Amino acid sequence: MIEKVVSDYLVVGAGAMGMAFTDVLMTETDATVTIVDRHSHPGGHWNDSYPFVRLHQPSSFYGVNSRELGNDTKDLEGGNAGLYELASGTEVVTYFDQVMNQQFLPSGRVRYLPTSEYLGDGLIRDLISGIEVVVDARKTVNATYMNVTVPAVTTPSYDVMEGVQCIPPNELPSITTTPDGYVVIGGGKTAIDSCLWLLSNDVNPEIIRWVLPRDQWMLDRAYIQPGPEFADRVMLRQVETMEIVAASTSLDQMFDRLLENGALLQLDPAVRPTMYRCCTVTSVELNELQRISNVVRLGRVRQIGLHDIDLDDATVSTSPNTIHVDCTADGLARRPIRPVFEDGLLTLQTVRTCQQVFSAAFIAHVEATYDGETIKNELCTVVPHPDDTLDWVRTTLENALNSIKWNADPGLKTWLSNARLDGFSGRGAPRQAAGPSGDDLLGRIREVTPSALEKLAAYLDEGRKVN
Ligand SMILES: Cc1cc2nc3c(=O)[nH]c(=O)nc-3n(C[C@H](O)[C@H](O)[C@H](O)COP(=O)(O)OP(=O)(O)OC[C@H]3O[C@@H](n4cnc5c(N)ncnc54)[C@H](O)[C@@H]3O)c2cc1C
Repeated sequence: MIEKVVSDYLVVGAGAMGMAFTDVLMTETDATVTIVDRHSHPGGHWNDSYPFVRLHQPSSFYGVNSRELGNDTKDLEGGNAGLYELASGTEVVTYFDQVMNQQFLPSGRVRYLPTSEYLGDGLIRDLISGIEVVVDARKTVNATYMNVTVPAVTTPSYDVMEGVQCIPPNELPSITTTPDGYVVIGGGKTAIDSCLWLLSNDVNPEIIRWVLPRDQWMLDRAYIQPGPEFADRVMLRQVETMEIVAASTSLDQMFDRLLENGALLQLDPAVRPTMYRCCTVTSVELNELQRISNVVRLGRVRQIGLHDIDLDDATVSTSPNTIHVDCTADGLARRPIRPVFEDGLLTLQTVRTCQQVFSAAFIAHVEATYDGETIKNELCTVVPHPDDTLDWVRTTLENALNSIKWNADPGLKTWLSNARLDGFSGRGAPRQAAGPSGDDLLGRIREVTPSALEKLAAYLDEGRKVN
């Protein structure tokens, strides 16, 4: 006979989003929650991360709302020196373990089913014992919809011939024989991390080849910082960005100006990026990456043989003693938008660009506070992950529209200002610059925002017609 578990909510996925969602339910309701996940520990894909992974945003606004992550200190060395700490993958996993074992489980309101697969209709099978349980829940929360994939658990999307050395970044620190060279494949954050890791281990940049299907616009992490010492700088950057948008005469001219101003960064001044995926770097990291001159911009890899790499646009040579580092898994897949709230089902998605944990916590607060799916869905307009240049326009516009809507609701405004995970206005944000400079910046942003948003909407409209 299958055991039946009764619970208010069934949360499928104990990744960062499922954890951040449950945390707010724990704080703001007296609901009971069953959490199921295939992994043996909470934290989702962070369990499969490469050993040198770090957050690419400060720890101060990552994790769950109710518990600090990290020590609120600044890095003293490395590419992030002088800026607020970035938790390592191990720290993130330990943190989620503590949230589960020191907060959720002792509350007596959470039942956690690790190493278990959700099969649908409330049915869960333990992957080790094979024992099945059925959860009878008022609501099911799908915290798996964002479909994050990481190289360690994905096979490359191209063919790899027998004998070729092709590894995920996880295996880089285990290399025992120095190869002829390294080929890093991919244009995202994982590829950047792998290149930086090789350089930080004194690998000669001449023997690193970087296969970059698309260049990306990057954000300068120095302007994504909490703490009062960064307040003026961060706010000024936001004001200037909106002023550039409002004054721009075309989409291209706007990107030129954003580049000159430093609001956006690019790897090679001669190559216009076509991709935007919220990637952050510091100027030190960017300078390091620019030491790699052998950048292959010939499309995606189709096949790696012992002596050749076939790409979309050409074939380049390689060797059996070259290590190919596969960084092509899509950690930020674009998913079709679904309503967040449907009858008995919540589908967690981003309501602020690339801010998954904030979004999950916000959705939980809306769930706990408002009645009726219409109003809840109105408050939780989904802002899907960005991918291309036009998505910078779209996400800047949609984030701003969501913020304006939220701040018009006094209850939500108060919640946001107390939310640790809100890196823009909450406890994780830089404190407002005090005195005349702060007032001046606030005045400037209020004045320019309407015309900037109008301009963004027009560019988006134009761009959609062209595409
Ligand atoms: C290298 C890297 C760095 C990143 N850095 C940042 C950062 O600095 N800041 C930031 O905000 N974001 C960052 N991200 C984005 C990150 O993906 C999100 O912050 C967040 O971790 C996503 O969590 P999730 O819960 O959506 O997904 P996941 O971590 O994928 O969790 C989903 C869980 O669902 C489980 N699951 C799926 N299907 C089932 C099933 N049928 N039954 C049982 N369990 C199931 C999976 O086992 C998994 O544990 C980074 C991502 C990567 C890859």
